[in-house]
Amino acid sequence: MAKSKSKVLLIYTGGTIGMMQDPKTGSLKPFDFKSLTNQVPELNKFDIELSSIAFEKPIDSSNMHKDVWVKLANMIKDHYKAYDGFVILHGSDTMSFTASALSFMLENLDKPVILTGSQLPIGIIRTDGKENLITAIEIAGAKDKGKSIVTEVCIYFEYKLYRGNRTFKYNSEHFDAFKSPNYPPLAEAGVEIAYNKNALLKRGNGKLKVYTELDNDIIVLKLFPGLSKKLTSSILNTKGVKAIVLETFGAGNASTQEWFVNELKAAIARGVVILNVTQCHEGRVVQGMYETSRQLKNIGVISGHDITYESAVAKLMFLLGQKLPHAKLKQQLEKNLRGELSE
Ligand code: ASP
Repeated sequence: MAKSKSKVLLIYTGGTIGMMQDPKTGSLKPFDFKSLTNQVPELNKFDIELSSIAFEKPIDSSNMHKDVWVKLANMIKDHYKAYDGFVILHGSDTMSFTASALSFMLENLDKPVILTGSQLPIGIIRTDGKENLITAIEIAGAKDKGKSIVTEVCIYFEYKLYRGNRTFKYNSEHFDAFKSPNYPPLAEAGVEIAYNKNALLKRGNGKLKVYTELDNDIIVLKLFPGLSKKLTSSILNTKGVKAIVLETFGAGNASTQEWFVNELKAAIARGVVILNVTQCHEGRVVQGMYETSRQLKNIGVISGHDITYESAVAKLMFLLGQKLPHAKLKQQLEKNLRGELSE
C-alpha cells in the first residue's frame, strides 16, 4: 500500500520572512502571503501536502501579544486532527516568547509545532528564509514508523532545531540568530536531518489539551548596581501586579541592602509572586549558593533554575491564567512542565 503523504499546515503571522521594502519610506513592512509562496516554487515539489492560512493583517512580531497567542493555539486546536504538523512563520524578534507561550498552552502534543522566520526577506537573493521554511516543513512532516518524530513546540533557524522554550534571540544580524544555551539542539540539518532523539520531549500520552487563559499582570525588574530605592518601591507597589520576574546577577544574586530585601518581602506578603531569573544566558539560579541570594530564598522568592527570561514571562502568564491557589502556583513554577527548565 502506498505511504500516505504527511499533511502540514503553514500559518503565516508576519515577520521579515514575508516583508518587502516600502518604496516611500524605505522601511520593511509585511506583504501578502500569496507573494511568499510565489517566491518559493520549491514548495510545490515536496512530498508533503501543504496548506496555508495567513493572518489577514500580518504583523511585525514586536506587536505580538497574548491575544495572538490564543488565536494561534486555537488555530492549532481546530486543525489538529487534520494535519501531521504545523509550521508558524513568525518574526524572529519575539519568536522565543511565542514558542514558549505555545509550549505551555499546548499540553500533550503528539505532533510538531515549528516556528521559523528569517533575517532577510524571502524575496531577497541571499535570503535565509528559503532554507528555514523548507526544512521546517520537512521536520513538521517527518515521521518514524507512522508517528511524528518531533512532538513539541520548536524553533528552526539556520540549520538547527531547538526546543522553543529554551531559546532566545541573541543576534540581530547573523543568520544564526538564536541560541539555546542550557539545552542541546533537537536536530541539525546537514546532508540529512540528524535528530538528537535523547533530547526530544516524550510524546504526549493523553489527548491534546489547549489552555487559552493567559494573565499578563506581570512586570520585570532587572537589577543593576545602584538601583534606586524610590523607583524600586514604585515598581514593586504597582497596582494590580500579580507576579514579578526578578532578573538577578550571576547564580541568582541580588543586593543584601535592608531596604531592598524589605521591599521584596512586603510585596511577597501582599501575595505577589517573585521569580528569580538570572541575567546570565548560561548557567542557573542556585538560591543560597552565595550570601547574596540566601536572603531571597528566606523571604520566599522562587527560583527559576535555568529558565530563560522569555520562558519565565510566558510561564507566569500561563500559570496566573489558571488561577491556581498560591501554593500550587509556586510549586508549578519550580517544576519542569514542558522541558523549559532542568530541575
Ligand atoms: N522585526 C521583525 C519581526 O520580528 C524581525 C524578523 O522577522 O526577524 O517581526
